[in-house]
Formats: sequence, structure tokens, C-alpha cells
Amino acid sequence: MLHLPTVKDNLGGYIDAGFPILYICTYEEEKADRYISSVAGRKKVLEWNGSDGLVNFKTKAPLLPDQSLEAVLDFLKIGKELDRTLLVIKDADSLLAARDDAGRPESDKVTALLKEIARRIRKGNGGIDATVIIVSSVLHIPQPLEKLVTVLELELPDETEIKEMIDRFIQDNGISTVPERFLEEMVIAFKGLSESEIGDLLNLAVAQEGELTGKTLKLIFDQKQQMILKAGILEMIPLKEGIADIGGLENLKEWLKKKAKVFKDIKKAMDFGVAMPKGVLIAGVPGCGKSLSAKAAGKLFDMPLLRLDMGRLMGKYLGESEENMRKAIRLAEAISPCVLWVDELEKAFAGIGSGGSGGEVTTRLFGTFLTWMQEKTSAAFVVATANDITKLPPELLRKERFDEIFYVPLPNKEERRKIFEIHLGKRRKEDISGIDMERLVAETEGYSGADIEGVVSESIESAFVKGSQRLSTEDILDCIRNTHSLSEIMKEPLKEMAKLYEDRKFKKASR
Ligand code: ADP
Repeated sequence: MLHLPTVKDNLGGYIDAGFPILYICTYEEEKADRYISSVAGRKKVLEWNGSDGLVNFKTKAPLLPDQSLEAVLDFLKIGKELDRTLLVIKDADSLLAARDDAGRPESDKVTALLKEIARRIRKGNGGIDATVIIVSSVLHIPQPLEKLVTVLELELPDETEIKEMIDRFIQDNGISTVPERFLEEMVIAFKGLSESEIGDLLNLAVAQEGELTGKTLKLIFDQKQQMILKAGILEMIPLKEGIADIGGLENLKEWLKKKAKVFKDIKKAMDFGVAMPKGVLIAGVPGCGKSLSAKAAGKLFDMPLLRLDMGRLMGKYLGESEENMRKAIRLAEAISPCVLWVDELEKAFAGIGSGGSGGEVTTRLFGTFLTWMQEKTSAAFVVATANDITKLPPELLRKERFDEIFYVPLPNKEERRKIFEIHLGKRRKEDISGIDMERLVAETEGYSGADIEGVVSESIESAFVKGSQRLSTEDILDCIRNTHSLSEIMKEPLKEMAKLYEDRKFKKASR
């Protein structure tokens, strides 16, 4: 998980220490309510919510019914109403997130009032003893409040808690006990879902089947897919390409195979003392198999492949990208074990430290990602791909972030041969034996994998259009003569890049 303080361990402490505004970021209001009740002690607890106005938190008895948050805060800010009180605020997302056309937070009245109240709380002796607790599923902190707000995360149930929930459910509903082995699988599948989601799914499973069966697992998986779709930040990529579809890049493939072995038996590996694999950064020449390798990793590890598109993450408003990054990370952890493919990593981190508000957001975004990479213990394996690492900040390239950094160069002779074989094999397998591979390889120095794939598909098309029965070496050579290879188009940048990678001593993906 992201390393925010958690509600369970910290809520009481922050209240006692006089932190003025706590922000509990969660979808689970009920669970947040339970924690708040458990730490309230002898304090009065008030609640403002969007449908009822100000009510008594425990009894829900109306106090200032149907009053707006602004009116309530305005009333509470004077006098001693708030002393020895916890004020819980719900449904305030839109009030706190109000932004002007340029995407800047409006310094609206609610923000100003919260600031005023926080100031009174903080005043020490003469001030009031109170805590404002905002409960919301999204994290929106108006800029003027940033320094006054402490964000707490409501942790998702861990394995023991999930097991207890299932046991309780079985007892309460009088259904037949689930075999131990199956129960274990179910516990792992439920990981990453909230208490209420787990409850809903258990109910649904029993409503459909009358008991908890193998179908429950499928239900859980579908639910996780739904989570991804709904959030709209990650994309689930179907597992098509495998390691055999990559020509060359032998070092990288071998390395991935080793990690796959660890994941296949992760529990045993961890018991043995193996560290949880974090991930890999694959950088280098465009069109040479970086994305292909990310996809193949999903299949090789036999885990769902989620793609995080950095362009999409950057959101309409800069402020949203940080929230989106947090969401993406949470989702990936929820789905784990999985492969999280972070595509075009350099896009997100260009402009770090460049000053201005845009630079600030990217810097924070980057911090969130770095901290997560460094401290990650979940089985969300990151495959980050980047075309241009000159745009990446040096901190990212330090060893403790990734298990390894690979540099993908233009394919050498042997690799070009493999790439030709793979793509010809996919479409004209029967013609391969008659084709002079030596010549093709000799004529395609400086071609990327994508260039070679292009040559193969174009030559097959022109052979067909000509009315040929077979594809010949000459057909392919014709096509090569009409192709501008990648290195022809970007000779200098490629040279510079190669030197940079060598200077930094990144591992070469090819042998
Ligand atoms: P990038 O390195 O820019 O991510 P891709 O992996 O997306 O490049 O490559 C684009 C296409 O080119 C692939 O879908 C594949 O068909 C072909 N290709 C590139 N490199 C290789 C390779 N090493 N082996 C086989 N095909 C390749």
C-alpha cells in the first residue's frame, strides 16, 4: 500500500495530538464510522452530511436539519459549540473540489471556514479542543488547506480479517463449510476488495449457488475486472504474445524467466528468503520489442496484465494526476498478483523540478511513484517501458527502485534473423525454407524489429497483388530497398542514446 498513515493505527493519536483536520480517504463510510466511534471517548461527535445537514453522529438525531455545510461551519466557528467535539463531514467532495475554469481550486467559502476553524483548534491553550474529520472516497484537498490536513488511509482487510469475515458469514447463514484449500484460495482472491465489497459478493454467491463454490472465485475475479473498468485508469490487456514471439533480447528473456519461476511458487520462494520481485525498467530504441516484452511478461508469469498509460494518467487537471496515480497503484495492488505495465514512463516525469505549478505536480507524482516502488511488498510486478531515458530523473534509475534496468538496442544480425523467422512464420511458414535469410539479414542493418515486421507484411501483400503463389527472397528485398529504416531516419539520436546507455552501464537486453 501507499505509505500513508492508517486509520486503524493513527486516528486516535492524531486526535489526541490536536491535529485540526483529518481526511479519511475511503469508500467505506461504515467502517470509518466504526473507527471514529471507537476513538471518540467522551467527546461529543457531530456529523454533517449532504442529505440531512447537521446530526448527532451516533443517534442521527437532527441538530441543524437541511443546513448547508457552509451555514453549519459558519455557525460552529463562533462560540464554544465545537469544544471537546469531533466534527465528521461527509459528502463534501464537490464542495471541496470546486475549481475554476483553469482548474485552480476556488478559494470558496467552505475552504475559508475550515481554515478559520482549524486556526482556532490550533491555538493551543486559548483555542478549542476539536477535530474535523472529513470522510470521502476521493482525495481533494483545496490548496489553502494543504498544510492543515492530514490524510489517513483506511486499510483494506488483511488475510486474517478476510478469513474471519468468511467464517462469520458461513456461521450466520448456516451454509456448509468450505474445504480448507478452497477457503485459502478464496481469501487470496478477496484481497484488495473492501469489507462491503466482500460482503456483497458473499451474498451474491450464496444467492446464486446456495453455497460457496468454485464459481465464487470466478465472481470475485469478475468483480476485480469491474473495478478496473470503472476506474478507467488502467487497461486490462489480453494475454496474446508470449516469450517465443520476441526475436533476440536473450538476456532480458532469461531474466524474466527467472522471475517467472519465483512468482510460480511465490510463497515457497519467500519462505526460502527470496525477496519479492519489484519490477524492471526496459528502455531503448523505439520499435525493438519493449512493449512486446511487457506483454510477454504477463503471459510468462501467468498473471493479469494491466497497462497504465502515462498520457491518460496526466488527467485534464494537473491536480488530478496525483490522485489518479494513487488510484492506479491501489488498483494494481488490489488485483495483485499482476503485471503492471507502465507505458512511456518518460511522459509522466518530463519537467520535474522545472518550477511552476505543473512542475510541482509532476514532482509530487514522481515522489508517489518512487516511494511506492521502493517500499512495495505486494506482488504487483512493474514493467516500465521508456523510449528516452534522458528525460527520466536520475533518482528513478537508482538500483533500489527496480530489480534491473535493461537497454534494448537495435537488433544485431542474429536477432534480425530471428525476427524475420518469427514474422514470416506467423504468415508464410511454408515459404521460409526457400528464403535466403543471410541476404535479408545483411541488407537490414539498422532496421528495428517494427521495421522488419513492416517489411514482411508489405512484401507478402505485394506478392499477393502480383499474383505470386509463394513469397520469394526477391519480393522481400524489393520491399527493403523501398524502406527507410529507423536508423536512417534518426541516426544521430540513436548514436547518442547508445552511448548514454553504455556510459550508465545498463544491462543490455540482447546477448
Ligand atoms: P517498442 O520497443 O517501441 O515498445 P514494440 O515492442 O511495440 O516496440 O514493437 C512493435 C512491433 O514490432 C511489435 O509488435 C512486433 O511485431 C515488432 N517487433 C519489435 N521488436 C521485435 C522483436 N525483438 N521480435 C519480434 N518482433 C518485434
